[in-house]
Amino acid sequence: MNPMSTSALWAPFTPMRQFNRQPMLFESAEGMHYTTIEGHRVLDAMAGLWCVNAGHGQARIVEAIREAAGRLDFVSSFKMSHPAALSMADQLAAIAPAGLDKVFFTNSGSEAVDTALKIARAYHQARGDSRRTKLIGRAKGYHGMGFGGLSVSGIGRQKRDFGPLLGDVAHLPLPYDAGLRFSNGQPQQGAHYADALLQLLEVHDPATVAAVIVEPVTGSGGVYAPPVGYLQRLREICDRHGVLLIFDEVITGFGRLGHSFAAQAFGVTPDLMTLAKGLTNGAVPMGAVLVSGSVYDAFMAGPEQAIELMHGYTYSAHPLACAAGLATLAVHEELGINAHVRQVASVWQSAALALREQTSVQDIRAIGLLCAVELKSRENAPGARAAEVAQRCFDAGLLVRASGENIVLSPPLIISEEQIALIFDTLQRVLDQVA
Ligand code: PLP
Repeated sequence: MNPMSTSALWAPFTPMRQFNRQPMLFESAEGMHYTTIEGHRVLDAMAGLWCVNAGHGQARIVEAIREAAGRLDFVSSFKMSHPAALSMADQLAAIAPAGLDKVFFTNSGSEAVDTALKIARAYHQARGDSRRTKLIGRAKGYHGMGFGGLSVSGIGRQKRDFGPLLGDVAHLPLPYDAGLRFSNGQPQQGAHYADALLQLLEVHDPATVAAVIVEPVTGSGGVYAPPVGYLQRLREICDRHGVLLIFDEVITGFGRLGHSFAAQAFGVTPDLMTLAKGLTNGAVPMGAVLVSGSVYDAFMAGPEQAIELMHGYTYSAHPLACAAGLATLAVHEELGINAHVRQVASVWQSAALALREQTSVQDIRAIGLLCAVELKSRENAPGARAAEVAQRCFDAGLLVRASGENIVLSPPLIISEEQIALIFDTLQRVLDQVA
């Protein structure tokens, strides 16, 4: 058996035949860098997959996982728990916006989203309002790959092959138009896009809607920041009509925008918040749903011996994940990551926007330490230009993500100003070379 054979692997979101011809295989990672099995060192401008926010191989996280594995390998979270799970829940509630003080653990962002959607529906049931089952997502939203998350997702291509999804779903438009191109941070215009929710509520009857779910900043769909005032308006409309607001902060959580959560960056608190990725610095799979006390309380009215939420996962609050999560929170605190991001975000955003003169660039959207450089589509070859740019960047020692026509950047949050300059200089050089 060849240990480097790709023949048995079926990888997620991967063109397998192309991958088998030219597999990209990594052997190690440290700080801002990966090293491939051939010894090629690349600067990781993706933070793994939007998740290694504190940089690779953080010693404290590595050691915490090692220690936990040797002490308590597993314990069920059904009707029992362990001290690290309690601490993790406490600490998350402590850094969350006021009011979000209950924590339900999952193992991924997809599970967090499906859990949040189920809690939203069950909340209305628990209050005796069983007509409220409809869920509202948004165009270009990405909420993972469970059937629930896929149903509220706003990326049609990802739904096409999987038959009927949840029926009771509608979608808001993306708050974006050509006038908002090249906005640095939040667009100043566009709050009115939130009023589309009023229209949807009218069409669907507000008394039948359970929840609205949005990413505060659209991530995988191409990095779209919310216009100033947009999320506030969504919040007001939801409040007025008894609809729960869910923020999917799987990407925006844990410092990406210079605050623990986007909710704090934008000053809008949802009723539920989904987390994953940066929660454990990507080191052990883990997700979570933060839930407001008032939503939780609605479940606590029945008989005391009854399970209030018929939902959960074998590996919820896994000891290794909790150990990694607690160490991650400590590292964030120790390194002052939120403050660092606030300090370098304007350098990042300006460096990104400086690429706007490139002839192949269609748009650039940058906020916090996130950025999408959208390239003009080649005739009859959608995505080909971005794929070529990503490959050339890789050859030049820079790992970026090509997603459709976008080059998407979300580096570890420990990035220095020199490394920011290096990323955008490399990208500029590559864009100069690629027609
Ligand atoms: N929600 C958002 C906003 C995401 O970006 C992702 C993953 O990229 C998910 C949910 C799904 O997370 P996971 O891949 O951990 O299931």
